[in-house]
Amino acid sequence: MSTYIFGHTNPDSDSIIGAISLAYLKNQLGEDCVATRQGNISAETQFILNKFGGQTPELKTSYAGENVYIVDFSDKAQAPKDIMEATILGIYDHHKLGDLTTNTPLECWIRPIGCSNTVIKEAYDYYGVEIPKDIAGMMLCAILSDTVIFKSPTCTKIDTKAAKELAKIAEIEDYKDLGMEMFIVKSAVAGATSRDLITRDYKEFDMGSSRIGVGQLEVVDLNVFDNIKNDLFKDMRKLKQESGLHSTILLLTDIIKEGSQLLIVSDDESKIENAFDVKLENSQIWLDGVLSRKKQIIPFLQPQFQ
Ligand code: MG
Ligand code: MG
Ligand code: MG
Repeated sequence: MSTYIFGHTNPDSDSIIGAISLAYLKNQLGEDCVATRQGNISAETQFILNKFGGQTPELKTSYAGENVYIVDFSDKAQAPKDIMEATILGIYDHHKLGDLTTNTPLECWIRPIGCSNTVIKEAYDYYGVEIPKDIAGMMLCAILSDTVIFKSPTCTKIDTKAAKELAKIAEIEDYKDLGMEMFIVKSAVAGATSRDLITRDYKEFDMGSSRIGVGQLEVVDLNVFDNIKNDLFKDMRKLKQESGLHSTILLLTDIIKEGSQLLIVSDDESKIENAFDVKLENSQIWLDGVLSRKKQIIPFLQPQFQ
């Protein structure tokens, strides 16, 4: 029986590539593992897979009775619905510890660093397993994506060192250029519906008795949103109502100017104003230097709801 390895719902590049890179490592260590995914592949991830000839993990949303490793999350909200009927053999992650529990002992690699693929790179080094060139290239891209080309406050020296070593294996000299090429692909909004954009990189968080939805779009120029902001607001209101949320927040992150424009639909805007010590204008605010949802947004919102 194969063991399945997958990342969070609404998978990003770290989740998809993490499943691939960890599955290869585990197979080298003699475990029969298969990389899977819980949802559609993003344009950015497709770019990475095409660039390095990676195979798209198979779509699998039910895991009852299976053995699994999970990557890039440990929250029930981001897990398959029947996760509690699976046996979690291990977690490879770089987020706050979530609310998943297990009935059996497990392997846990959770580190406060920029990317799950950096954690997995450390596991390769720990076990002395060589990383193939194509997998190294994909892992490098996952690190460039999660750390916003090393600009995010979540990025550590461990991530930059891992990226450098992976670039060497992949024989890529200008890896920052590769990162920019990737973010240009990620910046495309043409043809996408408002809902596609809001949920492209979207997570819901339980704060006290309220649930908050926070999406993020990382682009090289915020101009791409000029003509669609009203549509985004309209659909954010709809999503808020459909999902019974207290607030829906969309971060429009400019990776060149290094800051984020927040679009806010909320039952109580003052909570957001207090969290960041600002006054909203037309339910919007520019936060200079804010690139990371997990480090610069969520920890400030949370206390407002307790
Ligand atoms: Mg992720
Ligand atoms: Mg990640
Ligand atoms: Mg991210």
